[in-house]
Amino acid sequence: MKNRLFLLLLGLLTGCAVSAKAPEAREPLPTPPRWYVLVDAGHGGFDGGASGIDTGVQESELNLQVALLVAEALEDAGVRVLMTRTEKGALGGTKREDMARRGELLTTEGADAAVSIHMNKFSDRKVRGPMAYYQAGAKAGQALAQCVIDRLTEAMGLKSRLANPGNNFVTRVPACPAVLVECGFLSHPEEERLLQEEAYQKAIAEAIARGVLAYLEASAGGEPLPEVGS
Ligand SMILES: [Zn+2]
Repeated sequence: MKNRLFLLLLGLLTGCAVSAKAPEAREPLPTPPRWYVLVDAGHGGFDGGASGIDTGVQESELNLQVALLVAEALEDAGVRVLMTRTEKGALGGTKREDMARRGELLTTEGADAAVSIHMNKFSDRKVRGPMAYYQAGAKAGQALAQCVIDRLTEAMGLKSRLANPGNNFVTRVPACPAVLVECGFLSHPEEERLLQEEAYQKAIAEAIARGVLAYLEASAGGEPLPEVGS
């Protein structure tokens, strides 16, 4: 598992190095971004979310780090991105104010998809790996979540998993398809450590971005959406 991850990261790094081209003499005409994606870093400020069992790391900080990397990966792919927060603080002085502001941002007109980034925690410290939640009953949200979890399990060398139905504010409120990604478990000793490493965060963020793009391209192409579990 560790070796596979290392090779994957190495592959990503060398892939980047090879594809970095010298600037062209004539730049292509700028094209307007094809997609508009909302990226939400869960919690923030007074609301730290879950905390790591061994290191005490706050979920809110890791969410922001990964969300910034997701935004970067999407922007590199020519996607327009709006983030709910780019700072450590909450979006309001109280939980209610924070949710009201988050709700406003997550209903931004013209958005094609919304991605909320979180970290998980569970009493059984052996439980690990990513999860992707969609709003129960939302077909497009389910397809988006499945695209994301497929890329994540692939990147981590894990067996494929089904996206999970749920009822969360950040998947319920947006008008566009929405997914809540639990990147890993802060209760799993190795994942708690890995989730704080920038290279691991980057691999997760790029997998999430690839999943979102795969969903958007499939939905726009009129191709049948990936078959997901019933
Ligand atoms: Zn959370």
